[in-house]
This record gives sequence, structure tokens and C-alpha cells, in this order.
Amino acid sequence: METKVNVLDKGYVKLETNNVMGDDLSPVNDAKVSFDRESDEFGDKEGRLLDFLGREGHTSPFRHSFLKFEIHAPLMVARQWWKYVIGSDHAEQPLRNQDPHEAWNESSRRYVTESVEFYIVEADEWRSAPENRKQGSGEPLPLEQGEKLTEELIRNYEEGHRRYQEAIEAGVAVEQARLFLPAYGLYVRWRWAGSLQGVCHFLNQRLAGDAQSEIREYAEAVHTLSKQHFPNAIDALVRN
Ligand SMILES: Cc1cc2nc3c(=O)[nH]c(=O)nc-3n(C[C@H](O)[C@H](O)[C@H](O)COP(=O)(O)OP(=O)(O)OC[C@H]3O[C@@H](n4cnc5c(N)ncnc54)[C@H](O)[C@@H]3O)c2cc1C
Repeated sequence: METKVNVLDKGYVKLETNNVMGDDLSPVNDAKVSFDRESDEFGDKEGRLLDFLGREGHTSPFRHSFLKFEIHAPLMVARQWWKYVIGSDHAEQPLRNQDPHEAWNESSRRYVTESVEFYIVEADEWRSAPENRKQGSGEPLPLEQGEKLTEELIRNYEEGHRRYQEAIEAGVAVEQARLFLPAYGLYVRWRWAGSLQGVCHFLNQRLAGDAQSEIREYAEAVHTLSKQHFPNAIDALVRN
């Protein structure tokens, strides 16, 4: 069974398989408790029940199963991912009720000074601004322009990294020195746990064509890894 999928130039999604709770039978039996029934095996009848639950939006049986991931991604991806708070609650304390379910832990650049890594866009991966929309991307840019952009991006990263190191050497606190690092392309590592429904909600939005392609690649990895454990339940909830 696959536990890690590499994404972009240095990123990955890792499924913490010891921390997967449930399988396709779990939402089936969590729904069947209404009739005080239980299935021992997953068959056609159970598949039809999952499809019915997904189709009709009876989602509560999908909230008793959980998955936990470790993700290594540029901050621009983490920033979009962080918005998924339901079933993977990491809202600030005042927004929570009495029962916090903290489910986001990230490596801290207040403490960590080594291994600064940046997302490098290859020359043939640059996209133009879209013509009739405010967000998203249009057609690929010409290779010649892409080569120049990649060079400039690397130069920008190197410059920021150099200034960051100089600040640390000059005695600046790491938590402030990090202001010199170009943030959006900086790789960050975090753990994210969510209910099966929460993960599927993320997948529905981030596998869609209007999601930024970088987070879409991460969503494809989450999809691949999760489907190994919940193939039918995920098909019932994920539309794309
Ligand atoms: C293509 C795209 C572009 C985006 N652009 C922007 C942007 O420009 N700026 C920006 O800030 N965000 C943007 N977002 C993020 C978006 O606004 C959501 O925050 C994000 O998609 C998470 O979805 P969610 O809120 O449904 O998820 P969750 O927070 O996990 O919520 C899941 C579901 O729970 C329910 N729910 C959640 N909170 C409440 C509540 N308080 N009361 C009642 N029901 C609730 C809703 O049904 C919600 O769909 C974008 C998302 C996408 C996919």
C-alpha cells in the first residue's frame, strides 16, 4: 500500500497509516445503527447504501472515520489548505467552543533555522494570466520567457536566503530574521487530520478545475492515498 506521494519539485503528501480510523464499512455501519443492523462484509448492498448517503447528502456517517497526513508544500499551498476548518478544526481559540480539536501542526521557523527550501517553477511551467477571469491561470507562457522567470525566481530566493543568514549571523532573533525569506515559495511541513467528510470536502473543492494547479496536485495525492482505505466511500462523496 502506498503511503507517500511526491508532489511538485520537493513536496509530498504522506498518509500516517497507523492513524487511519475506519474503512468502507465504517460509514455503512454508522448509518445502519439507525435500524440496529450491521454488515460484516462490504458488498453491492453496502456500496448502494454509500451512494445513496452521498447522493442525498446524509453526511454524518462519514464523520466517524479519520485520516491523518503529513504534508510538505510551499506556503502558498498551505495558506489555501488552512481554510478547511470543519472536521479538521484549527481555528483560533476565541472561535472555538469549549472543545477544541486542534488538527494542524506546523514546523516552526521561530526555532528551525536549517533546510530552507523553495519551490522552483521549471521554465516550462509558467502560466499566463487568464483573459476573462480575475483569478487562475491562462495558457502556458513561451519557454524562452519561462527560462528567464525561473532564473529571476532563483535569484530572488538566493537573495532573500542570503539576507536571512546575514541577519542570523548579526544576532537577529530567528523569528524576525525569517522576514527576509521570500514566503510564498518557502516549503513548510505540517500535519493535518480530518474526518472522512472533511477530507472529501477538501477534495471536492481542490480537485476542481478552478483550484490552483499546485494545490490540485496535492489534492490528487490525498485522493490517491485516501482511496486505498475508503475506495467506495470516497467515490460516494467526491464528485470529480
Ligand atoms: C477556487 C477557490 C477560490 C478561493 N478564493 C478565496 C479567496 O479569494 N479568499 C478567501 O478568503 N478564501 C478563498 N477560498 C477559500 C474558501 O472561501 C473557503 O474558505 C475554503 O474553500 C474552505 O471551504 P469551506 O469554508 O467550505 O470549508 P470548511 O471550513 O471546512 O467548512 C465546511 C462546510 O461547513 C459549513 N460551515 C463552515 N463554517 C460554518 C459556519 N460558521 N456556519 C455554518 N456552516 C458552516 C459550510 O457548509 C462549509 O462548506 C477559495 C476557495 C476556492 C476553492
